[in-house]
Amino acid sequence: MPGPDDYVTGVREGSRAWIARAITLVESTRPDHRELAQRVLAELTPYAGGARRVGITGVPGVGKSTFIDTLGTALTGAGHRVAVLAVDPSSTKTGGSILGDKTRMHRLAVDPNAFVRPSPTAGTLGGVAKATREAMVVMEAAGYDVVLVETVGVGQSETTVAEMVDSFLFLTLARTGDQLQGIKKGVLELADVIAVNKADGPDAMVAAKAARELAGALRMLRPVSGDSRAVPVLTCSARDDVGLDEVWRHIVDHQDRLAATGGLAARRRDQQVRWTWAMVHDRLLTDLHAHPAVRDLAPALERRVIEGTVTPSQAAAQLLDAFSRTSTTLSGS
Ligand code: GDP
Repeated sequence: MPGPDDYVTGVREGSRAWIARAITLVESTRPDHRELAQRVLAELTPYAGGARRVGITGVPGVGKSTFIDTLGTALTGAGHRVAVLAVDPSSTKTGGSILGDKTRMHRLAVDPNAFVRPSPTAGTLGGVAKATREAMVVMEAAGYDVVLVETVGVGQSETTVAEMVDSFLFLTLARTGDQLQGIKKGVLELADVIAVNKADGPDAMVAAKAARELAGALRMLRPVSGDSRAVPVLTCSARDDVGLDEVWRHIVDHQDRLAATGGLAARRRDQQVRWTWAMVHDRLLTDLHAHPAVRDLAPALERRVIEGTVTPSQAAAQLLDAFSRTSTTLSGS
């Protein structure tokens, strides 16, 4: 088995084979792999952090892969090195990765200055997010200066991706009037830039009208105060490569403004701390559910809660008690 130095040297030299191996390593849940992965990541971390990190979300069919393929190709054409990662916890259930699928990004998939990595299928959202964050460290240490993280609006995945990027782009389709209600409020609150895609052909006018209405709705949801700015709502056609440069300009603008005020560094620091705690929470929950004493106790307690012979609070206290008593004994031995 190669040692940490082999991975670090390979990644730093930008070798695609080593990058792929390093990402496979950080995605692995095997304990010996985990240990090696952490050593590799510790050595790569000082070289990471240099990329623009952009999250991209939107419902399936909105045009995310087309958008990333077109934008990514323009960016590599301008001298950037572009990494595409994905967070799609549902890919575990459907058995295959949907996001970041190379077959859906024809040009980037064969572009020597791009690296497309499908969503890991590590199981829980927490597991997928962790693998993606660590893959991001690998890509940045390898010299990729733009990292695009694709996700869909499944459960908490958008919030999770917003937590690992500098800017968050929401792609949507032309919707007006009542249809606007269908857009998740939470996503609008996370978005730094919004683009109405498929603004081409006969739909171009509808898209422009939809963008105006969305901008209006957004002004009510997120009133502009102090030095905060209104979230730009643009139109674009990923298929025809119209307006993508403008969308990118607004993303860069957003990041540059953040960086100028120290907000970008602060945001990244906060993300690191929240990430740390998210991992602690994840780990605790996994340990709790796997704990023998908790597993022994749970079925009977659940029955008693249903019968009404113990209150949920009492049952919770007993479960936590069983967990902490034996885990303290274990860690103390
Ligand atoms: P994703 O599921 O969000 O990744 O969406 P895709 O990129 O796979 O696109 C879904 C469909 O919409 C495909 O048939 C694309 O060719 C089409 N599409 C994507 N972008 C555009 C666009 O800007 N205009 C039009 N008319 N079609 C588009």
